[in-house]
Amino acid sequence: MIFMDRPVLAVDLGGTKIRSAVISQEGKIVAIDNRLTQAYKGFDHVINRLFDSIDTVLRKERMKTGEFSGIGIAIAGVLDSKNGILTSSPNLPDWKNVPLKKTMQDRLGLDTFLINDANAAALGEHRFGAGIGAQNLVYLTVSTGIGGGIIIDDKLYEGSTGSAGELGHMTIDADGPRCNCGNYGCLEALASGTAVAREAIERIKAGKISVLRDMKENIIDITAEDVAKAARQEDKLANEIIAIASYYLGIGLANIVNIFNPQVIVIGGGMSKMGGMLIEPAKKIVKQRAFKLPARTARIVRSRLGNESGIIGAAANVLNRQY
Ligand SMILES: [Zn+2]
Repeated sequence: MIFMDRPVLAVDLGGTKIRSAVISQEGKIVAIDNRLTQAYKGFDHVINRLFDSIDTVLRKERMKTGEFSGIGIAIAGVLDSKNGILTSSPNLPDWKNVPLKKTMQDRLGLDTFLINDANAAALGEHRFGAGIGAQNLVYLTVSTGIGGGIIIDDKLYEGSTGSAGELGHMTIDADGPRCNCGNYGCLEALASGTAVAREAIERIKAGKISVLRDMKENIIDITAEDVAKAARQEDKLANEIIAIASYYLGIGLANIVNIFNPQVIVIGGGMSKMGGMLIEPAKKIVKQRAFKLPARTARIVRSRLGNESGIIGAAANVLNRQY
């Protein structure tokens, strides 16, 4: 039973951080606890930290679990959301086939709903962020990897086995660089933060001149953030690399526009903080490559909820079940 007048207990379980929050019906974070996951210490340690984090946020607000409508958990990983099982997670290597829904419900006595973090972010932006009012929305997170979430007619599209929305793994260049997924030339291998850093490192190793050379003691430690910083200093190489990532991102977005004809494409993740220098040239590519009417219809915007999109989306996933 999901109660309409109660807040949601939301958790964002990541490889680096665990965050627990009390979130109001209006999608506002009332209280939050942040702590490191310490995944290297193993499953039991992380589960204990997860419950400690929830206890802390409950104490902060002097609330009991009975006062919530339910628990929403966003996790980077492969989920069997119907059965509430976390099948696997790239960031939590010893979490395999964990019945997390049951574990949470047994311990806290509250209905619990699991959702993939990119899907959560899509729901968060749709209900409370940059996509308010749009029935058809695609969310793209451009970070160390690229993930996505698809909302069709106000509902999250999960596919037949729950794995839909892997937009980072559409092939953009059949002969492109190897992707983490094993394929070649995926959007993720060409336009993610990892791809930007890789290009910078390779080009500097090949002798290109750039302020990036002096930004890190060791060239292999250069990050996408460094490249963005160098680009703002008018560094030619950094600007070239971002222009290439933006070009590939634009091709990916043109595919999304042609396939989904969305009202809004929301771009989140660390790379979106580059703002105009990444997104504006990508929009031009969309205009050139996608069909005219859907390209005109689709607003391409930055995430409004930023780093909170996942945890607010975990709450939206619970709130959306009230109707
Ligand atoms: Zn891939």
